[in-house]
Amino acid sequence: MLKIFHLKKQRKKPEFSYIEIPITLNCNLKCNHCTFFCNLIDEKVYVDINEFKKDINELAKKIDIKQLRLIGGEPLLHPDINQFVQETKNAFPKTSLSIATNAILINSMPESFWKTLKEYKTGVNISYYDIWENNFYKVTDILKEKEINYTVNNINFFYEQLNINGDSPIKKTFKNCLCKEYINLWEHKLYKCQKIFRLFYNKKYNTSIELPPGIDIYKASGKELYNKLVKNPKPFSACRYCHEKGILHKWSRYKQE
Ligand code: SF4
Ligand code: SF4
Repeated sequence: MLKIFHLKKQRKKPEFSYIEIPITLNCNLKCNHCTFFCNLIDEKVYVDINEFKKDINELAKKIDIKQLRLIGGEPLLHPDINQFVQETKNAFPKTSLSIATNAILINSMPESFWKTLKEYKTGVNISYYDIWENNFYKVTDILKEKEINYTVNNINFFYEQLNINGDSPIKKTFKNCLCKEYINLWEHKLYKCQKIFRLFYNKKYNTSIELPPGIDIYKASGKELYNKLVKNPKPFSACRYCHEKGILHKWSRYKQE
């Protein structure tokens, strides 16, 4: 009887369809209009594996997640990448896990990395940028050789979203926003979108552009997290700093002036 009650209780955890977790904000590509403003970051921004372990286990107590992605910046730059995979899968063994990468480092990853991906059933999502000339086969060859599931997503255009005037209509901008589906975990909080990383823009240009509100995963219950982020999300003041439609730019690398 007790066992049945326990199972019922476990089933009550609300399920998120997708969450992404940046593990570093440093990147070896630096694209113009990077959503995470990685092109503007000069300092080292690496998530601490012990803090991550605490956060991911706290999340696992409160919610289920269908699909989880470790992202960056460029996550393969993180020296503890194997541990991030292990800790994530230990906390969420049934969740589909993948790593998003620009693939620049794929050919130099050590054997332990491939072993971890295989053992922990973790895939790779490659963002394909126009940097490979005719060499991209070297990336896909190694993924095939290591028997890792992978996807390739061509990135030709970027949307510039930041409206520094802060005069966009909040409700309409939020309603049309596709980024609000990308719930991010950052420093013990869940955010409705990645615009928390405007903090690096603010730092670089000494501005005070409003950031989205985060929800503390240690203070909120699973139900609260789900209601605020999935079931009944509400527009917030920081949405006025996003363009209503976004401005399309052809992909290019950032050149510091
Ligand atoms: S590769 Fe991705 S994380 Fe790196 S700068 Fe480009 S968009 Fe940003
Ligand atoms: S701040 Fe609002 S409009 Fe901008 S990306 Fe986030 S949810 Fe969308």
